[in-house]
Amino acid sequence: MNDLASLPPLRDSLSEHGLLADKSFGQHFLLDLNITRKIARLAGPLDGETVIEVGPGPGGLTRALLEAGARVIAVEKDARFLPLLSELADAADGRLTLVEADALKVDEAVLAAGPGHVVSNLPYNVGTPLLIKWLTGPWRPVSMTLMFQKEVADRIAAPVNDDAYGRLGVICQALCQAKVVMDLPPRAFTPPPKVSSAVVRLDPLATPPSPAEIAALEKVTAAAFGQRRKMLRSSLKVLGGEALCVKAGIDPNVRAETVPVEGFLALARAL
Ligand code: SAM
Repeated sequence: MNDLASLPPLRDSLSEHGLLADKSFGQHFLLDLNITRKIARLAGPLDGETVIEVGPGPGGLTRALLEAGARVIAVEKDARFLPLLSELADAADGRLTLVEADALKVDEAVLAAGPGHVVSNLPYNVGTPLLIKWLTGPWRPVSMTLMFQKEVADRIAAPVNDDAYGRLGVICQALCQAKVVMDLPPRAFTPPPKVSSAVVRLDPLATPPSPAEIAALEKVTAAAFGQRRKMLRSSLKVLGGEALCVKAGIDPNVRAETVPVEGFLALARAL
């Protein structure tokens, strides 16, 4: 039996199994273990921790997570990768569990059977819905270290008054500390995507807003950023307009992009 250190290079594993990337699954692989190890360090410390990884593909990030001492539950939708990943599981001393499934449909509480982190080079087409699931679902990750296309990563972590500041950033930052921790150019991936990518680290807040407050926050931010050039008195008209702003202690004559996350939370509570 192999151990992790004696596994073949990722490119050799892919060619031995005759595997080519399938764009319909958003497949852009990280085949440089120096990069995947850096992502695992950014997610760490992981020794003895449980990690859910979405989309292990050829397993470069999975190897790095296992090397860091994590117990990994890897959810992969493309069944073609399971024989290759089984070889990795054989080398991992029982610390890698493979689940063939659509990550949008799995119950993380059942998979992790306790607290766990999420670390993933996410498929672009389902990245944001998965993030919303982990932010607002019943299972709250201990931390999330996630690769997105750069434009989405910037929106998640954007500060108030930034061009990228909007609904996604307000909702993420109401629930987590969010920071872009690594940028990657297209050439870091095989095959290269059209756009740059970035890793975001999200650490859920100890005392998050309640589900009712988040539901109200979703309504307020949808209205406010739906018409981001208008003043709140006008963009929030259907939700109470000026009266809602006054109740929340927010100036009704400002535009959404100048209102900090706490301001939106005050509007959500007033609603
Ligand atoms: N982690 C690998 C790496 O870094 O090289 C692969 C990353 S690739 C960007 C995205 C992976 O997610 C692919 O392996 C793809 O098959 C898988 N995937 C796509 N949609 C998925 C879904 N809904 N559920 C689980 N895996 C999915």
